[in-house]
Amino acid sequence: MKRIVVAGAGGFIGGHLVKALVAHGYQVRGVDKKPLNQWYQVTEEADNLILDLMIKENCYQALNGYHEVFNLAADMGGMGFIETHKADCMLSVLINTHLLMAARDKGINRFFYASSACVYNATKQTDTDNPGLRESDAYPAMAEDGYGWEKLFSERMCRHFSEDYGIIVRVARFHNVYGPFGTYDGGREKAPAALCRKVIDAELGGVKDIVIWGDGLQTRSFMYIGDCIKGIQDIMYSNIEEPINLGSSEMVSINQLADMAEDIGGVKLDRLYDLSAPKGVRGRNSENTLIRHYLNWEPSTPLIDGLRQTYAWIREQMIVAKESKKPVRFN
Ligand code: NAD
Repeated sequence: MKRIVVAGAGGFIGGHLVKALVAHGYQVRGVDKKPLNQWYQVTEEADNLILDLMIKENCYQALNGYHEVFNLAADMGGMGFIETHKADCMLSVLINTHLLMAARDKGINRFFYASSACVYNATKQTDTDNPGLRESDAYPAMAEDGYGWEKLFSERMCRHFSEDYGIIVRVARFHNVYGPFGTYDGGREKAPAALCRKVIDAELGGVKDIVIWGDGLQTRSFMYIGDCIKGIQDIMYSNIEEPINLGSSEMVSINQLADMAEDIGGVKLDRLYDLSAPKGVRGRNSENTLIRHYLNWEPSTPLIDGLRQTYAWIREQMIVAKESKKPVRFN
């Protein structure tokens, strides 16, 4: 039976991935540095370990007796976090480096690395009308400062461990992922969850306005978590040897995203644009020719459908938190 380690299992995507792998019948070990009561989801059938994977010895311990690794562990968040925690983001290089060293020495045969659209050259993202970022647009390199450079460096480290030590490595560049069990407050949340939270605040509490970061014209695409989990597994077990986009190509402006959240909540709010807030690149979208070519598939859950599910889940959490007068999220 396959024995698989998921690093970052206490996080948003890791929690969903552990659940999916256990459902396939695999033996799964989930590892995260957070205490178990702070994991977004805990799958009881998995072997859940609390270890700081920046520390080399812990990576060796985590991989002992296992065959495959999905590395989703990183210190990360939305724009509000990565623009203000560049050093913390770069320190995640220790996690991937030590996991690769342990993978080499422990005979791991397949290794997945979660990279990001933040590796793409910033000069290709200056227009809201982005035609979609192709995999080749990462070079010449001008990645997102901090977080993006760490991802790009770690991608290359994966490549060289594959070339020099024969580990099969797969790298996916995720474009914004959203869905139930994601962060929606506390400073690490991303736009879809943040806007849902603000609209729910208005819906439940009678607030009449909503703060939008930037002028709202900046564009992005957002991938539903279900598509992300399918894509991760399909890429891991494919023959795709180069980093590949894993993202939706349904590009919307942040204003359009806010419109959708308002439609779901049945409210219309006055928009206050905070032009001094972190806003990231002007336009970003995923170009999916390569993934269609290899997998005959691409992430395609319509944003409005995924957002409806996300909104419902966040609303439920906020009502519980309100009733118990304590936050249900920890970071
Ligand atoms: P997340 O923050 O919810 O999960 C990451 C997990 O890693 C957290 O639970 C955290 O505690 C854990 N972690 C951090 N440092 C650790 C350490 N030293 N040892 C052990 N565990 C540690 O993030 P996510 O949204 O689930 O993202 C998963 C991966 O996907 C990350 O590598 C991220 O950079 C990448 N990614 C995510 C998105 C997105 O939109 N969510 C976009 C691009 C790339």
